[in-house]
Amino acid sequence: MVKYVGTPASGGLTIAKIKVVNRRIAGFKRVVLTPHRERALYNAALILAKDELTEIIRHTTNEHRDILNFQVLMLDDAGLNQLVLAKIEEHNGAARSVEIAMEEYCAKLKFINDGYLSERTSDIRDALTRVIDILDGRKRERFVLTEPCVIVADEILPSDLASIDRKFSKGFITVEGSYQNHANIIARTMGIPSVCTIDSEILNPLNDGRMVAMDGYTGEVFLLPDDDTVAAFERKMKLESMDSERAEEIKNKKIITPDGREIKIFANCNDPKDIRLAINNGAHGIGLVRSEILFMSTEHDLSLASQIRFYSECIRAAQGREITIRTFDIGADKPLDRLELEKEPNPALGMRGVRLMYTQQEIFETQIEALLVAADRCGRINVMIPMVSVVSDVTDYMVMVERVKERLLSEGVIATDKINWGIMIETPSAALISDELAKYVNFFSIGTNDLTQYVLAADRINTNAARYYDPVHPAVVKLVEMTAQAARRWEIKVSICGESAADFESAKIYIEKGVHSLSMAQNAMLPIKQRLLEEFSQS
Ligand code: PEP
Ligand code: MG
Repeated sequence: MVKYVGTPASGGLTIAKIKVVNRRIAGFKRVVLTPHRERALYNAALILAKDELTEIIRHTTNEHRDILNFQVLMLDDAGLNQLVLAKIEEHNGAARSVEIAMEEYCAKLKFINDGYLSERTSDIRDALTRVIDILDGRKRERFVLTEPCVIVADEILPSDLASIDRKFSKGFITVEGSYQNHANIIARTMGIPSVCTIDSEILNPLNDGRMVAMDGYTGEVFLLPDDDTVAAFERKMKLESMDSERAEEIKNKKIITPDGREIKIFANCNDPKDIRLAINNGAHGIGLVRSEILFMSTEHDLSLASQIRFYSECIRAAQGREITIRTFDIGADKPLDRLELEKEPNPALGMRGVRLMYTQQEIFETQIEALLVAADRCGRINVMIPMVSVVSDVTDYMVMVERVKERLLSEGVIATDKINWGIMIETPSAALISDELAKYVNFFSIGTNDLTQYVLAADRINTNAARYYDPVHPAVVKLVEMTAQAARRWEIKVSICGESAADFESAKIYIEKGVHSLSMAQNAMLPIKQRLLEEFSQS
């Protein structure tokens, strides 16, 4: 048995086999040979890519099969192949030629008005990236799971999680990452244990298939656990599930503060499955749906139809409870591969969240349209705008909303507007001018993950700066209080949806400062509710 200790990033206990996914690659330099040799390399890579895909198809479910079969067909597409070969003739080298051809081909598809094909560009990219990886000698490991296992990886990206089969994902152990990175935030909302910043030795390919016992609460990882460790884990796991009776009891109680306010516990979720689970686990509602997460996966596109479907499913999954969907928060630590955003020297302070409305107007308008249509069809929702820092972020955004709404109403696409608009308070300026911002919106949700980062100048994903990152630092708490006071003056609700809402001591402080609800990963809801019930009155 070998014991490792990493950073606990998502609570839970697991014993399962390891699947090692090591995508780290050494830097390499492409060498361009003669067109004749590059052509041969390209043809060989095509054959290998198709073999890989066929192998994956053999182990995969029906719905994924169609996507993968389509990818195999694309690799045989004559037009696409000719395009690559022409680029090779121009001495670009095979890998670069596939890259250029991929861009040109996908750009063309966007213009030929074929909804089916233009919606499949992400699959075409996926298939061709496989060929490029083979040509570059890059190991291409996908998160295709065929049995329950703990994934051990250098790093897990949000897009990996969006397409992962959660039935088989029993835990994540990563060499990189931090408690605050998005993959771990998502792991927590999915209720999957996760431990990060572990010794890279664990990536040894020999560990593939070996047993591991992991504790997402403490960060302990036992490779090849001995009998005593397995027995201790099994005992703890039994205890966790035995608490279900107590959980039922807690679900039905109300948290009432000494000054008579009821504090609601909401869940942060990413998709309808999470939402259904959270509501069944006693969430009063859904306080944050990070809409950008779904679209980080290559399986979902940003088309109007696809977005209407997604938001409608989310609303239905909330079963009549309050639900707050956040508009795309893309940029900085949440890049969206398919959107070619300008590289910025300091992305956290650059064009992210609502600021992208000025350069990505079409995407923003499509999202507004999809939200209005979904709400009109499925029921009232809250929608909130991230990364607001100045009043014009809200007023300009609302001009866009009005424009889209007027069109939809005049065309008879929607009958009414069923959206309550709110904003996230996650920049110091937004908190400082919350009294002004409150005039334009129906609610506030304080994003302490970013607010802490910006107030204390401490990068949320940089572990070296962790000592400065304190979501209950007096400076942060002061801004929470200011925001709550503004909300009270304007009689609007204020919630906390950052990760610190799930920390009892922090939650208590935020409640004392006047917030009405806390929104958190669903596996944190009951433990926090239990502590708050003990702290405040029970009824
Ligand atoms: C936050 O900043 O607190 C928040 C909830 O948003 P995200 O973590 O998605 O940036
Ligand atoms: Mg944020």
